[in-house]
Amino acid sequence: MTRLVVATRNAGKVREIHEMLAGVGGYEVVGLADLAIPESPAEDDIEAYETFEENALAKARYFAAKTGELALADDSGLCVDALGGAPGVRSRRFAPVDEARGERQDAANNRYLLALLADVPDERRTARYVCAAAAAWPDGRELVRTGTCGGAILREPRGTGGFGYDPLFYLETEGQTFGELPPDRKNALSHRGKAVRALLQALGEG
Ligand code: IMP
Repeated sequence: MTRLVVATRNAGKVREIHEMLAGVGGYEVVGLADLAIPESPAEDDIEAYETFEENALAKARYFAAKTGELALADDSGLCVDALGGAPGVRSRRFAPVDEARGERQDAANNRYLLALLADVPDERRTARYVCAAAAAWPDGRELVRTGTCGGAILREPRGTGGFGYDPLFYLETEGQTFGELPPDRKNALSHRGKAVRALLQALGEG
C-alpha cells in the first residue's frame, strides 16, 4: 500500500478527491487533517503562478516536502469566454468579500460573476472549468495531468450540491448544473474527475 496525501484545504475538493480515490486499489489515502498538519500562512503564497499546472505542482511539492509522503494537489478554476478567460487561476478569490453582508467567499464570487455577465446574452455565456492534478514525491519526482469541462453560466443559481461556482455552471447535455447533479455524476464529467483519473493512470504506469 502506498500512502497518498490529498494536499488541499478546500473541503469541496477534499470530498470529491476522496470519492474518486475510494474505489482505487493500492493507495492508503490520507488528508492533511488526518496528519494534523496545521494550516500555515505560507500556504497562501504557494500558488503564485499564471498556470494551473505550475500551481498544482507547487502545492504538491510543498506538501510532499512537508509530510515526507506522496502528495496529490489540485489547482483549478473557471474560465469564462466573455471575460477573456477570467477568473482562471484567480477563481478562489475572484470577488472582494463584503464583510458587511457577512458573505462567504463562494457566495461573493457567484454574485460578482453574475454582475459582470449581466449584459452578456445567453449564447455568449460559455465557460470551462479547468483542473490540473499533480503528484509529487519527496525525492523530487513529479507528474501533472489536466482535465477540462465545458458549460455555460446561468443567470441565477440552481441546486445546492458541489461547491464554488457549481450552482451557476450548466451542462447542456445534462440539462442541469453541477449544483444539481448527484456527486458521482459530477465526478464522472468534471474537470477534476478527468484530471485525477488521468493522473492515477500515469501513476499506475510509472
Ligand atoms: P484553488 O484552490 O486555487 O485551486 O481555487 C479553486 C477555485 O476554483 C475554487 O475555490 C472555486 O472557486 C473554483 N473551482 C474549482 N473547481 C471547482 C468546482 O469543481 N466547482 C466549483 N468551483 C470550482
